[in-house]
Amino acid sequence: MKLWKTRSLAGAAAAVSFFLVSGCAAVSSEPMTYTDTLFDSVISLQIYDSRDQDILEGCRELCQKYDVMFSRTNEESEISRINNAQGNPVEVSPDTATLVKKGLYYGKLSGGAFDITIGSVSRLWDFKSEDPAPPDPAAIAAALTHVDYKKVVVEGNTVTLQDPAAALDLGAVAKGYIADRLKDYLEGEGVRHALINLGGNVLAVGDKPDGSSFNIGIQKPFDESGIPLTSVRIDDKSIVTSGTYQRFFERDGSLYHHILDPASGYPCNNGLASVSIITDSSLTADALSTTCFVLGPEKGMSLVNQLENVEAVFVDTDSQITYSNNFQK
Ligand code: AMP
Ligand code: MG
Repeated sequence: MKLWKTRSLAGAAAAVSFFLVSGCAAVSSEPMTYTDTLFDSVISLQIYDSRDQDILEGCRELCQKYDVMFSRTNEESEISRINNAQGNPVEVSPDTATLVKKGLYYGKLSGGAFDITIGSVSRLWDFKSEDPAPPDPAAIAAALTHVDYKKVVVEGNTVTLQDPAAALDLGAVAKGYIADRLKDYLEGEGVRHALINLGGNVLAVGDKPDGSSFNIGIQKPFDESGIPLTSVRIDDKSIVTSGTYQRFFERDGSLYHHILDPASGYPCNNGLASVSIITDSSLTADALSTTCFVLGPEKGMSLVNQLENVEAVFVDTDSQITYSNNFQK
């Protein structure tokens, strides 16, 4: 008998948001809130010190702009233009050029464990199908020959894929970048207390209006009760989690999730269930959470422990927690 089950990111994000809302219940004034489904995720923004609807509208416009810009599946996106250019140079926006450069930086930092040219492989994995199954191994092997971040060239705002069959996938960094841009926008509008949550990619603008920190739950793997395994207090910082349970399916007793090992083309199976990174920039947290997940428990934690102002919480498949050396309990 075939046993399978899928889980969408939207559901996972909802579980996180539930805790965020309840975690903020002590705040006297109700925040002004914008929720949407974008970037394949449920997103929410809570602004505590403004009632200006134009600010919410500004956030919505920014989210929609970036959703179209960075999507791998939208044929109109800048990423699709690069992927469909047959190796020709493509002029893109400064946002896309910056994000691709950041992606290449983390490729180098991780020795290729993190690789934004994973697109040729990731497009073979369909986590939303009604009847999901792992791709044909021969197709994975063929796609893997086109994964190599070293063959991406960025000059100014021009991006060239030196391998015409390569494909970019910015899914591991886009939400972090967008969260940082939303924070810049909110601060420019004078907002001092807000929480941005792009599908579990959380960034705090300041602290809560009463001066206390935001309390962000880290989910127990595959638990949908909304009761967190542990929680982290943040002010003006980001916490981003990469987890097996955010996008996955089960087939014939095996779990297949969305964080792929560029060495094999299959989901990383290294004993980790999630990696949460806490640092100032949401882009850095997003890139590092995926990078450390692919590097695995030892190399991933060793990388975090070498970096300044970066904390981490690793959860293994038995829900055991490991903290980075500098974690502020
Ligand atoms: P995140 O949820 O930030 O950890 O990012 C996971 C997403 O990044 C996946 O859904 C893919 O789109 C993409 N991805 C998967 N594996 C890798 C990898 N090894 N390096 C870079 N991006 C990846
Ligand atoms: Mg990431």
